[in-house]
Amino acid sequence: MQPAYIDTYYSRTAATSEHYPQARGRIEADVCIVGGGLAGLTAALKLTRSGRKVVLLEAQRVAWGASGRNGGFVSAGYATGLAAIERRTGPDQARELFRLSMEGVEIVRNNIQELGIEDAQPEPGIAKALRYDSRGALQAASERQQREFGLQIRYLPRDEVRALFVSPKYHEAVLDEGAFHFHPLNYGRALAREASRLGASIHEHSPVMAAELDGVRKIVRTKEAEVVAEHVVFATGGYTGGVLPALKRAFLPIATYVLLTEQAPELVQSAIRTQAAILDDRRAGDYYRLVDGGNRILWGGRITTRTTDPRDIAALLRREMVTTYPQLTSLKVEIAWSGLMSYARHLMPQIGQWKPGVWYCTAFGGHGMNTTAIGGTVIAEGIAGENDRYRLFAPFDLAWNGGIFGRTAVQLTYWSYQAADAAREFRSR
Ligand SMILES: Cc1cc2nc3c(=O)[nH]c(=O)nc-3n(C[C@H](O)[C@H](O)[C@H](O)COP(=O)(O)OP(=O)(O)OC[C@H]3O[C@@H](n4cnc5c(N)ncnc54)[C@H](O)[C@@H]3O)c2cc1C
Repeated sequence: MQPAYIDTYYSRTAATSEHYPQARGRIEADVCIVGGGLAGLTAALKLTRSGRKVVLLEAQRVAWGASGRNGGFVSAGYATGLAAIERRTGPDQARELFRLSMEGVEIVRNNIQELGIEDAQPEPGIAKALRYDSRGALQAASERQQREFGLQIRYLPRDEVRALFVSPKYHEAVLDEGAFHFHPLNYGRALAREASRLGASIHEHSPVMAAELDGVRKIVRTKEAEVVAEHVVFATGGYTGGVLPALKRAFLPIATYVLLTEQAPELVQSAIRTQAAILDDRRAGDYYRLVDGGNRILWGGRITTRTTDPRDIAALLRREMVTTYPQLTSLKVEIAWSGLMSYARHLMPQIGQWKPGVWYCTAFGGHGMNTTAIGGTVIAEGIAGENDRYRLFAPFDLAWNGGIFGRTAVQLTYWSYQAADAAREFRSR
C-alpha cells in the first residue's frame, strides 16, 4: 500500500514543472535507474555525461519523494556520527568516508554553479544550536572538526546566538560557514532537465513492478514498458517496495514533517535575524530557516515510524515553533507536508552492488542532501569502471531492519531521546 501523504505541498513552491512521458514499449539502455530522487538523478546525470545510455523510471514525478520535500540543509557528515562509523570501519576508513561526505556538499554546490541553477536559491551557513550549556564540549568538538577536516566552523557564544535566533531556549551554537541551504525540488528538477538534455530518457508515472535480474541483460518491467539494460540501479529511498526483497527488508521508512508559514517579514525577522539555517541539536530536533527572501519560515521537525499522515501536521509543528519563539504566536501556517526517509539499522547509506550489474543506492536518512550526491556519484563511477569507491560503504550492508521489532525499537529510542533532551534542557535553565 502506498503511504499516505499530503500532495498539495512542496510542488507549490517549485519554479518549473516539466513533465516527462510515461515509459512505453521495449526500451534498450546501458543503465536503468529506478527512482527519480536526488540519488537516482545524480547517478543519471553523471552516467549520461560519461556517454552511457540511461533510462530513469520514476513512479510519480521527478523529486516527488524526500528529495523534493526536504528542509534543504546541505552539510558534511552522515545520519550517524564519526565515532559510530569508526567503530565499524576503523579510523582511517571513517575519515575517508567523512571526506567523501564533504565532497558531496561540493558536488551539489558545483552543480548549482555550473548549471546556473538560480532557482535553487543557495544561502550560506548552517548553525547547530544547543538548548543546554555543554561546558566547552561543543567548542572543543568544532575545533577538532576544523583541525581534522578543515571545516569552516565558528563558535557562537550565548549572546551571539540569541542575537541571531531570538529565543530564550538557546545557550550556544556553532556556525558551519561552508554548509548551505537551498530549494531541493528546484535543484532536483534542474538535474533531470540537464540529464534529459544530454540524452537520458526520463519517465514519470512509471512505477517498476517487477525485475528479472539474473541474466547479463536485466529486464525491468512497468505496466506499459520493458527496459532491457546491463545495469540496474535501485534508488527508491523511503518509498522502496518489494521489487528487490533484499532491499525492502533492509530499511525502515521514517516520516518527518515540514511547514511553511505565511509571508510576514517583520514578524519572522523578530525571531530569526540571519539567513543561516538552524539545526536544533536535540536528537531528532527541529530544523528551520528563512525562505522567500526572508519573508517566511520553513520549519521541519519530528520523526516517527508512522508512515500515514496525522491530520494535524501543521498544528504539531506549529506548537514546536511557538514554544521556541513565543513572539510567533500570531504567525499563520500556509502549508505543511510529510516525507519518508529511508534508514538502515546502522544509520549509514546502503551503497553497493548486490550482484553483478544490480546496484543499490539508498538509506540516506535525514542527511541525504550531500550523501545522495556521493551515492549517485560513486555508483556511476563503479558502473563506468572508473574506480570502486563505492566499496568504502561495504561495512554498511543490507542488514535486516528487524521488521516490526525494528520499528518499535526506533520509536522507543526516539521517545527516550526526547525525554533525555528535555531533562538536559531543564537542567540548563
Ligand atoms: C521532510 C524531510 C526533511 C528532510 N530534510 C533534510 C535536510 O534538510 N537535509 C538533508 O541532508 N536531508 C534531509 N532529508 C533527507 C533527504 O531528503 C533524503 O535522505 C534524500 O532526499 C533521499 O533521496 P533518495 O533519492 O534516496 O530518495 P527519494 O527522494 O525519496 O526518491 C526515491 C524515489 O523513488 C521512487 N520510487 C520508489 N519505488 C519506485 C518504483 N518501484 N519504481 C519507480 N520509482 C520508484 C519514489 O517515487 C521517489 O521519487 C529530509 C527528508 C524529509 C522527508
